[in-house]
Amino acid sequence: MSRFFSDKYSALTPYTPGEQPRERKFIKLNTNESPFPPSPLALRLAREEAGTLQLYSDPVCTSLVKAITEVYGINEDEVLFTNGSDEALYFAFLAFCDKDHPAVFPDITYGFYPVFAQLCGVPYEEKPLKDDFTVDVEEYIGVNRTVFIANPNAPTGIALSAAEIEKIAAGNPDSVVVIDEAYVDFGGETVIPLIRKYDNLLVIQTFSKSRSLAGARLGFAIGKKELIRDLNTIKYSINPYNVNRVTMAAGVGALLDTEYFDKCRAEIADVRAYSMRELKRLGFEMTDSKTNFIFARHPRISGGDYYARLRERGILVRHFTVERIADYNRITVGSREEMETLISVTAQILEDVK
Ligand code: PMP
Repeated sequence: MSRFFSDKYSALTPYTPGEQPRERKFIKLNTNESPFPPSPLALRLAREEAGTLQLYSDPVCTSLVKAITEVYGINEDEVLFTNGSDEALYFAFLAFCDKDHPAVFPDITYGFYPVFAQLCGVPYEEKPLKDDFTVDVEEYIGVNRTVFIANPNAPTGIALSAAEIEKIAAGNPDSVVVIDEAYVDFGGETVIPLIRKYDNLLVIQTFSKSRSLAGARLGFAIGKKELIRDLNTIKYSINPYNVNRVTMAAGVGALLDTEYFDKCRAEIADVRAYSMRELKRLGFEMTDSKTNFIFARHPRISGGDYYARLRERGILVRHFTVERIADYNRITVGSREEMETLISVTAQILEDVK
């Protein structure tokens, strides 16, 4: 820390992103990226747009807004695009949380929530998940706090139903309820159709997973126009050009190529089912994942040991040192070949620790 760093950040522990190794080629199953390239339409539009990079991007994201209104049946003033969904979450913390509106989220969830809360100087409460790692919906009724729920949750992979999310939105009419649907396209139920009914409901999604654009950094928030207007006030006070031209073009292609989108997520669901069957055969216990990752533990090997042995053999997964989930690893669903390798390497590891 330099002597110039503001005291207000002295206690801030930044988010630790999953490893992006350069020194060696790994099978990367640690950051929930898609194993598939972006849609061919996304690539073509992005290439064409690259020739205009001397110009600023469109702060209103007109082309993206038009495409998403067609795909999700929402109005133009009900969406805001961001530089990854992390930025949408950050804007939500800035716009809807303060000392009088603290944040609340599960104890086991996306690790960025407490970081944003600390960065924004917002008090927060972490509500324990139940023993089976499900969210206790009753605990979120009438909380008088801004609610952040990842649905499906990460790293557990478990989803609440739309009816359960509706209960939380209805149970907190005077607080904003932010539903982070980063993984919803792999088997969850979106609550986008509920935004007209609940003026406190904000839905956040990303192009990083199901739309194969993690490196482009594109996310969005959908809600009633008043909520979106507030987020725009924040955006125009930080970075009006938050989505670059190439990303915008790629995003339009990814949204309009619904056939490619559906094919990729169906394949992920298939490969997830195959991988879970095989891991179960090897003795793993897993949660009911509705996402593009598997949350697994084995009675004979600790989470840290399994992680390290996979790494030695060229496979990266994500292990969290948090006590409650230290037995587990979060394994991204990669391509079928990658998962076949994971299964055979895992079988060898289990032989070694017999
Ligand atoms: N929410 C959750 C639950 C996530 O796991 C991630 C990915 N790390 C994000 C949001 C952010 O994704 P991105 O910024 O790439 O859109």
